[in-house]
Amino acid sequence: MEIFKKVSESAKTISEGAKTISKKSSDLVGAAKLKYEISKLEKEMENNFSALGNLVYLRHKGEEGIEEEIKRLLDATKALEDDIAEFEEQITKLLPKSLICSECQTELPAAANFCFNCGTKVIDHD
Ligand SMILES: [Zn+2]
Repeated sequence: MEIFKKVSESAKTISEGAKTISKKSSDLVGAAKLKYEISKLEKEMENNFSALGNLVYLRHKGEEGIEEEIKRLLDATKALEDDIAEFEEQITKLLPKSLICSECQTELPAAANFCFNCGTKVIDHD
């Protein structure tokens, strides 16, 4: 079955790709790079969903041996989702914390020198 073979092969590439990225994740620096990785993972997830759609349809038509393939693809997709969550967590840690004005408690951008609300000088700078 040509379609089934094609779907399987693309799915295999996808899950191995996710593993490589996940292994490299500890070496990644910078929120921008992490965001780029996330966008790539999200695309892979979309590919998985589309492949899953094909597989479910083939199963509906009575194709044999699809069940295992669907299970594997679902696991691979879950792994991608976990990777994305991990990257998002890393981004949160990388981004500078926003400042809170000591006088009026207004939330200020990390680079602020003065509170735009009450004009108090921001002293808690790194
Ligand atoms: Zn203020």
